[in-house]
Amino acid sequence: MSCIFCQIAAKEIPSQLIYEDDELIAFYDIQPQAPVHFLVLPKKHIPRLTDMTDGDYPLIGKMARVATELAEKEGVSDGFRVAVNCGEQGGQTVWHVHMHVLGGRQLNGCLG
Ligand code: 5GP
Ligand code: ZN
Repeated sequence: MSCIFCQIAAKEIPSQLIYEDDELIAFYDIQPQAPVHFLVLPKKHIPRLTDMTDGDYPLIGKMARVATELAEKEGVSDGFRVAVNCGEQGGQTVWHVHMHVLGGRQLNGCLG
């Protein structure tokens, strides 16, 4: 298995896990871009948002719910950003769909 996020989900490589259930995991980003920066993703290997099929879309709703609950736990529920980079031009570097959750500093309009 060459996908790093599948390996994290399988506990084959370590991460700072902050959430796990039968379908999703969340862990802190290794190169945080904000005081709070974690990733929420499905255990199922889906490369990009655009690879999701009808049966996968409920996962996005669940990811949003977990992101919100964890943002609360991390103390950033007053304001945070959720981002999903899709494709090379969208800035995606790991080909396993994931939601970034960033907070703990002022985030401005431009995503870069
Ligand atoms: P993308 O650029 O694909 O939207 O985001 C990938 C994110 O995964 C980056 O923010 C990067 O820092 C993070 N990342 C890459 N490899 C690892 C890893 O091995 N462990 C953790 N915790 N984060 C990683
Ligand atoms: Zn994967």
